[in-house]
Formats: sequence, C-alpha cells, structure tokens
Amino acid sequence: IGVIAVASTGAVPADGVVSIHPYNRSSPRARARAAMSRSPTLRHVAGRLNVDPARDLRYQLWLGVACFVLMVCGLVAALYALTADRRVGEHANQTVLLGSRALQTQLALVDLRRRAEQALRSSTPATEAIERSAGAVNELVQSLVLPWNPDAGEACRRAIRAAVEDSLRLYRRLEAQPADGLAARTQRADAWLAESASFTVLADTELRELLGELTRAAAQEDARAASFTLVARNALIALAVLTALVGLLFGVLALRAAQAHRTLYGHLDALAHTDGLTGVTNRRGLDDVLPLELDRAQRLGYPLSLVMLDLDYFKRFNDRRGHAAGDDLLRNAAQAWRQQLRPSDRLARYGGEEFTLVLPSCDAQQAAQLVERLRPLTPESQTFSAGIAQRRNEETAAELLIRADAALMTAKRGGRNRTVIAGDQPQMTLPLRIVR
Ligand code: GH3
Ligand code: MG
Ligand code: MG
Repeated sequence: IGVIAVASTGAVPADGVVSIHPYNRSSPRARARAAMSRSPTLRHVAGRLNVDPARDLRYQLWLGVACFVLMVCGLVAALYALTADRRVGEHANQTVLLGSRALQTQLALVDLRRRAEQALRSSTPATEAIERSAGAVNELVQSLVLPWNPDAGEACRRAIRAAVEDSLRLYRRLEAQPADGLAARTQRADAWLAESASFTVLADTELRELLGELTRAAAQEDARAASFTLVARNALIALAVLTALVGLLFGVLALRAAQAHRTLYGHLDALAHTDGLTGVTNRRGLDDVLPLELDRAQRLGYPLSLVMLDLDYFKRFNDRRGHAAGDDLLRNAAQAWRQQLRPSDRLARYGGEEFTLVLPSCDAQQAAQLVERLRPLTPESQTFSAGIAQRRNEETAAELLIRADAALMTAKRGGRNRTVIAGDQPQMTLPLRIVR
C-alpha cells in the first residue's frame, strides 16, 4: 500500500505541488501509516471503511498470542485429562489385583491351619512345610499394599504377621510334645485347633479390616482422579469454545481486511491511472491502454488514430494569469473535450500542457474533424496545436507516438493553432485560427 500510495500521490499531486519523500526504511506498518497520512484520498477512503492498518495488525497480533496461549492451555488440559484417565484405569486394576490377593491370603491362612493340624495328627514332623506356608501368608499380606499410599493398612498387616508368628510358635510348641500313639497325636491336633482358633479369627478380622481400609483409600483416590478428569474435560470444552471464538474473530478480521484491501486497491488502481489535476487518464494509464487498443485494432482490422495536443504559448498564459488560472484552464479544457468523445475514445494527459487522444475506429481525417470540434470548446480562447498519426500495420505504441509527436512539431513550426496529419505523403496542415 505504501509503495503504490507514494507512487500515485507523488506522480499526481492533488494540489499541484510535488513533494518528494525519501525512501522510508521503517517498518511496513509505519510506511502504510505514513502513506495514509500523506494521501487525502486514501485517508478519506480508509476513514469511510474504518480501517486502520496499524490497529488491525495489533488486533491480529493479540489474537495470535491468544491462540498460542489457548493452544498451550489445551495441551496442558489434554495431558491432565490423559494422566487422570490413566490413574483411574490403574486404580481399577489395582483394586481387582488386591481383591484376588486378599482371597489368596485367606486360602493360604486356611491351608496353614489345615497343614499344621494334619502334621500334628500324623507322626511326621512338618516344621519346614509349615514355615513355608507361614512365609507364603506373610508374603501375600505384604503385597496387600496400595502403590500410591503404602502406609494405608500398615497396622493390620503388622497384626496379621504377628498372628501368623503366634501360630508358628504354637505349632512348634505342640510339635515338641510327645506324639506316641494315636491318642497323644489327636490330643495335639485338637489342642492346635482350639488354641490357634483365636489367631485365625484375629488374622481373618484384621484381613477384613485391611481390605476395608484399602478399599476406602482406593475410593478416595478414585474420587480425586474422577474430579481431575471432570476439571480437565470441562477445561477442554471451554478451550475448544474459546478457540472457536478466536478463530471466528480471526476470520471476521481477515474478511474485513480483505474487503478493505480490495476497495483500497480499487481506489489505488484508479488513482495510479488518473491524473490528479484534470481527472483524465494519466501517462501511466496511456502506456497501459495504448498497446491494448493497438493490438485490438490490429486483430479486428479497424483504423486507430492517435492525436497529440499541445496548448500554444501556455507558458505565457501562466506568466500573465498565474499558475492557478493555468491549472483551471487545463482542468476545464480536459473536461470540455471529454464531453465530445465517444465512450471508446480515451483522453490522456501526456504531461504538462500536452494531451493525447486515442481514437479507435477512427481514421486520420475523422480524427482531424474531431480535433476541429474541440478547438472552440477550449476555455479562455486558448489555442492548441495537434499532430495526428493513424496506426500503420504492426506499428507499436512507441512508433505511433513518435509519428504523432513529429506531426505536432510540424504544426508548431508551421505557426501553431493548427493540425498536422502524419503520413507518407507531405503532411497536411489545417490553419484554423490566428495565433494570439
Ligand atoms: P509552445 O506553444 O511551444 O508549446 O509553448 P509553451 O509555452 O506552451 O511550451 P513550453 O514547453 O515552453 O511551456 C509549457 C508550460 O506549461 C510551462 C509550464 O509553466 C506549463 N505547465 C506545465 N504543466 C502545468 C500545470 O500542471 N499547471 C500549469 N498551470 N502550468 C503547467
Ligand atoms: Mg509542451
Ligand atoms: Mg505548449
């Protein structure tokens, strides 16, 4: 925007004063703002569209930052939810595992009691096997632990181990008693059953207590994990909604920027091809249009004439009446001439007080007649000289302009206020008015 605005405002000053701005090394934002402030037209257009490039860029920057923060929050929330979910899954597995270990412990306790009874009833000592059984019970009791809370149920585990220890001691004592005869062995076994019952009951009670404690701790942890999951899910939903809103804002901003840019570029394009003083096509516009018109005329095979007009002694007019009056004359002459043209004709300001007419479907004679119709329309009885060149086959825009310009020079040399048609034959001169 900055570059085009500088070009158009520099080449076509609205006030006729050429201001040259040095190449600006500052940021594109500053350059766009500077271009806006220099061009009244751009300021007007931008004001109507309510577009401030600096502000819009700031909005987009903040939206970008917001998007980044939201994305990071979303990532954290997703990780949080994943962790919470994994913990709920782990807890469920652990609870099932604990249940099965508790069952195994109960069975191991029953096995220990039964083995000891059988050993005491028989004559074969089985201390080692009984100690192994007790060891298995202790190991199982030791594994009844919550990994995330190893202290839970420690007292119960200790009590069960003590009961197993007491049972083992009782067994050793009974085994040491004489076992001669069935009666003595039966007495030993019965004594075991009677005395170990209290240990068994204690171990059972403590085991149940341990399980209850572990289940409570697991349930507490589950509830916490579930609340984590809930928080994480709600956060994710909120973030998704926020991200969608930010995206929507981005879209609206981008749409607005695109519309504003389209309109601005439309205006800039018109500015770049329009002469600021007279409102007709400028030199750049002529350079764009002429090759296209020539190409079309060549393809469709119709004539095309180019007229170069130059106001006579315009410097003198300026010197006598002032530059403001000269500007008015240029403006009014261009507007008056334009009324006479067909929509397909193009009047351009070639530069200074020189104008160009591009006349498709018009041969040199018709162009000369049109030029004569323009003379009386020129304000302040100002005269002009004209050079006309009709397009030759395969002729380029530059060649055509050179021939028209040469014809204009001939008109000037011939005394001004006349039209000269360029051609292979000696050039035709149409003196029309006495030069003042
Ligand atoms: P000639 O008949 O040979 O064309 O004489 P001239 O005085 O018209 O030509 P010259 O090239 O000597 O001077 C052209 C003058 O046109 C000089 C300048 O003051 C005037 N001129 C060029 N552009 C503008 C403009 O935008 N506004 C005004 N007021 N004058 C302009
Ligand atoms: Mg001139
Ligand atoms: Mg002149």
